[in-house]
Amino acid sequence: MRVKWTVADGIWNLTFLLDPEDDVTGTCTDGARLELRTNTCQIRLPKDRTSGADVHPDLLAVAAWTVAAPWTRQRVTFDRPISPALAEVFRTHWNVDAGPVGGDPRSGTRLAVSYSGGADSMAVADVFPDAPFVHFQRIRHPRVPNRWSFYRSDVLAGLAGETGRDVAIVQSDLELLLRLPGPGYPEHHAVTVGALLLADEMDLGGIALGYELGSRWLGGGRYTHHFTPDNPIWSGHGKWGSLFKAVGLPLVLPVAGISEAVTMRLALASDLRDHVRWCLRGSKGGGACGVCAKCVYKELIQAAIERRPLNTTVTADMPIARRWQEPPPYGGQEMIEYGVAHVPGIEHTMFAKAAAYLQATEESTRWLEHCYAPAIDEVPEQWRKQVDAYMVDNVGLMTEDEARRVETWET
Ligand SMILES: [Zn+2]
Repeated sequence: MRVKWTVADGIWNLTFLLDPEDDVTGTCTDGARLELRTNTCQIRLPKDRTSGADVHPDLLAVAAWTVAAPWTRQRVTFDRPISPALAEVFRTHWNVDAGPVGGDPRSGTRLAVSYSGGADSMAVADVFPDAPFVHFQRIRHPRVPNRWSFYRSDVLAGLAGETGRDVAIVQSDLELLLRLPGPGYPEHHAVTVGALLLADEMDLGGIALGYELGSRWLGGGRYTHHFTPDNPIWSGHGKWGSLFKAVGLPLVLPVAGISEAVTMRLALASDLRDHVRWCLRGSKGGGACGVCAKCVYKELIQAAIERRPLNTTVTADMPIARRWQEPPPYGGQEMIEYGVAHVPGIEHTMFAKAAAYLQATEESTRWLEHCYAPAIDEVPEQWRKQVDAYMVDNVGLMTEDEARRVETWET
């Protein structure tokens, strides 16, 4: 793979060219097969954040890698020399020959939050009330038709901008590069391209993301659903965690020890709650759509934490509810268990069959209300104390028995 960046007026253009051994069909770290549609994308930084200072070549290299990795087999040639330490991570963790090599590593000090506006990243924002946000906004690609025109990224960016926080909104068309069933991040880490390109400008020394217990520890990727201490996507010592550490922007997962039931409870109790939005479809004035899969799933969780009946127009015979008429496993199954155990009258909803299959109870799902302590140990040292104090004060740590539920998870 050969990678080239050009920049003008805060707009960074990335072009990559396949080497003979590369292929337009690639594999994301989560195992999904990805077909490449085009080989260019752009990243537009906010005008007030581009002082013209150069971006460290290691940051540019990792930003490019979050886009190009799935289609690269053996080597990657960047257009600027990368530090020996970064090249070493490519060699040892990726078995990829990366270069040219030369120059010094970078470092920074502040923590930024990769903020989507959903409950998980809002919970992160509550843990770090003074941290700036970097928000990724999808825009159209000039060379690829937009098949997901319902996706209201403009609404989400607007809500992020209204939080009153220091927010950098970064626009990119990189999700249109590939064909899954629809657009998507080539690698999940592509959501951080803005933080990477702004890291020098904002003096960033870490990037906090809203990946919760399911994503980090229960194998909540696309295909595996079992305890994954060595998760290659999000663990601090994995192939991605090591790359980000090498460029002085370690991945920080402040809510990796808690379930989506807890992140939602924290988000709805936070001073930002009026700006929360997990639905990608709803309009600005109209709120969430209420009928997409995400809305239904999140409504189950919200009804559970509020111990009230489900408030939805979706019924078991509608296509969107089909997955829950089948036997498990389900995506996000731990939250389906939590939901059916806590929502009164669940037997009269689209989740009746799932409830009968799962037989979950308040007792069997109590571990999902507490924090898995090893997740705190993974937070880089300079931010660990703040996460630890927050979790002890607001959530409570899991008992040994509860932690064992995490470590024996299998669906
Ligand atoms: Zn929706």
